[in-house]
Amino acid sequence: NIYGERRNSKGYDLSDAISLQQLQTQLNELSDKQYQAKPLIVGEVTGNSSRTVYNPAVQSQIVGEVIDANEQDVNTAFTTAVNFKQQWANTAPEVRSEKLEKMADLMEQHLPELFDLAVREAGKTLNNAIAEVREAVDFCRYYAAQVRANPAGFKDPRGVVVAISPWNFPLAIFIGEVSSALVAGNVVLAKPAEQTSLMAYFAVNLFHQAGIPKEALQLLTGSGKTIGESLTTDERVNGVIFTGSTDTAKRINTNLQKHDSLIPLIAETGGQNAMIVDSSALGEQVTIDVLNSAFDSAGQRCSALRVLYLQKDNADYLLELIKGAMAELVVGDPARLTTDVGPVIDKVAQQRLLDHIEVMKKQAKSCYQVPIAKDVAENGIFVAPTLLEIDNISQLKHEVFGPVLHVIRYDAEKLDDVIREINSTGFGLTCGLHSRIDQTQREWEQGIQAGNLYANRNIVGAVVGVQPFGGQGLSGTGPKAGGALYLQRLNNRTAWNFDG
Ligand code: GLU
Repeated sequence: NIYGERRNSKGYDLSDAISLQQLQTQLNELSDKQYQAKPLIVGEVTGNSSRTVYNPAVQSQIVGEVIDANEQDVNTAFTTAVNFKQQWANTAPEVRSEKLEKMADLMEQHLPELFDLAVREAGKTLNNAIAEVREAVDFCRYYAAQVRANPAGFKDPRGVVVAISPWNFPLAIFIGEVSSALVAGNVVLAKPAEQTSLMAYFAVNLFHQAGIPKEALQLLTGSGKTIGESLTTDERVNGVIFTGSTDTAKRINTNLQKHDSLIPLIAETGGQNAMIVDSSALGEQVTIDVLNSAFDSAGQRCSALRVLYLQKDNADYLLELIKGAMAELVVGDPARLTTDVGPVIDKVAQQRLLDHIEVMKKQAKSCYQVPIAKDVAENGIFVAPTLLEIDNISQLKHEVFGPVLHVIRYDAEKLDDVIREINSTGFGLTCGLHSRIDQTQREWEQGIQAGNLYANRNIVGAVVGVQPFGGQGLSGTGPKAGGALYLQRLNNRTAWNFDG
């Protein structure tokens, strides 16, 4: 076990009444805290005028203020990064590992603020916030352990790596990208999603406290269109890690192709993720796993379930169970422990989802939506968890990033066609199967072209070091995050010492 004595992070046990009460007291104390974010670069910051961040669940509540970087700041950050890259590359790999381990410890010492930011800036439920921090801690310890196990393999890094990360895992994916690049010996320019700049700023400050030099990790807040664009068109970039939409990944690819040199890109993008359920599946288990996969995190995971294939013979029965369970979902402010489904990230995302639901309702054979309390809907940015029964996956023209589940019925003898139909989307991130028939499991496993396959369970929540995560085709380039091969892409000469 590469972790040595330290395994995956324990997180926080909400089932323990005393720690729960303690946590709630700490969170209450933070409930009107105002955070800030600004570019963290070495050199003069010019920046833009500040903007206010509101809680997506309670729009009247201010969470903090952000100053975005401008193009001059990007230029300054590159100059610093280039000047410092050799020094960081020369730092002993074990020392880089040590700083990541310190970062993991620091995150565990700042759980209340990290949970608070996940809840109030990103709209996460407390359970999701806990999983988020665990994953971030795991990334640091896992990548640090890899470098410790093979220090000789991490002496020739790429150089300046740009890390562009999404709002849906504002800590975990941000940390995953930044920590991997740093520990492999690169200096990093981090560009987090605009929507979750406060969390990124908090995290970068912790990295600096953990001993990562300010020149080795600089933060550039701002939009993809301006800052992301400047970062990926600049000739001084030596590598890019990106998680987000397929369209943006293509855009980055186009930018990188214009450079004189060949620049490696690691992209982890969207999915049109499916689950196949045959008549041998256990109904209650299917129901739990479908609800988790489709509606947990308000469906805002790239791994989330979008298309559920139900074998015709038991489709009515399963739909009754699923709709019955959906009716129990509580949609609301994630600061409340009773909430199952929180808000979507912003009004643009909400409108896109509402438009999609409107269009699909006209084509769908049936539609079921979870009611949302009036005051909840008035105060925040919510989309009702929705189930739409459709005919064919090709009716979905793009990834639907929210709590919308499409259901398609299939004939038992047509499993081949279902597998072909799922592959035909060109996406290949996650896929699930519920079946107790060995032959079906084998056919599915061999036929589906996707990065992460989950049998008889939900399809979200890949665990670092256990379920390396990433897709193929329109879903990403690989190597998988939290897997043994990830760091190799970030270092020119990763040579594994297979004997040791
Ligand atoms: N790794 C996450 C999961 O397994 C998804 C990551 C993402 O949404 O980008 O659910």
